[in-house]
Amino acid sequence: MSTSSSPATGGPTGGPTSIRSRCSRHVDGYAVDATGEIRLGGGSLRESVVLHEIAHVVSPGAGHGPAFVAGLLTLVRERLGFHSYGALLTELRRRNVVEGDVP
Ligand SMILES: [Zn+2]
Repeated sequence: MSTSSSPATGGPTGGPTSIRSRCSRHVDGYAVDATGEIRLGGGSLRESVVLHEIAHVVSPGAGHGPAFVAGLLTLVRERLGFHSYGALLTELRRRNVVEGDVP
């Protein structure tokens, strides 16, 4: 028996669920705006996915905007190391998501 619920139909109690982030079909996880709860699909328990969702929790209402990106970069640097941080920063700059100095 599953205790999870669909984000489209509400939370476990059947009430409305405010979802800040539901990422692409390739990232099976999301953060719940009202509670800061992170929900992950069965195959999503990877550190990069968890860090992505934590970045949503620490940047409420930011979507995938600058505050989210800054939080994600900080988390990646602290948890995955400088090489992962540098690779992510390089890719974000290549895609014109960030420019100049970042935290
Ligand atoms: Zn996201």
